[in-house]
Amino acid sequence: MIAAYDRSNVFARILRGELPCKKVYEDDFVLAFHDIAPLAPVHVLVIPKGEYVSQADFGAKAPPEMIVGFWRAVSKIAHDLGLDPEGYRIVANHGPNGGQLVFHFHVHIFGGGIMGHSTG
Ligand code: IMP
Repeated sequence: MIAAYDRSNVFARILRGELPCKKVYEDDFVLAFHDIAPLAPVHVLVIPKGEYVSQADFGAKAPPEMIVGFWRAVSKIAHDLGLDPEGYRIVANHGPNGGQLVFHFHVHIFGGGIMGHSTG
């Protein structure tokens, strides 16, 4: 079960500037930074600037311009990281069974190598 948004989660604290991050990109809609425990040669997290606990919450509650801005930023970040020509993977873990550990919606961008086909 996914609880209500908790403003003390680590990504909320990064967004508020209370914790550091290795920033990759920022605009009005998103903040992107390197994962602290990378699982691929390039492993970047993209988080929306808003209180959305999960991808379902984001899809249901975010204004359309935020949803568009978020996904355009994901593509731009992957492009700017040089991942476009060879390809990359986007993952959003949803809820405990999906392996979500931080309950502020985010996507992982994995790249810089060939991804396997395991669901983990
Ligand atoms: P989830 O399982 O999709 O929720 O992934 C959470 C991710 O956040 C994991 O890959 C963690 O390594 C990453 N993470 C946790 N704390 C930090 C941090 O302070 N900075 C950057 N990444 C973090």
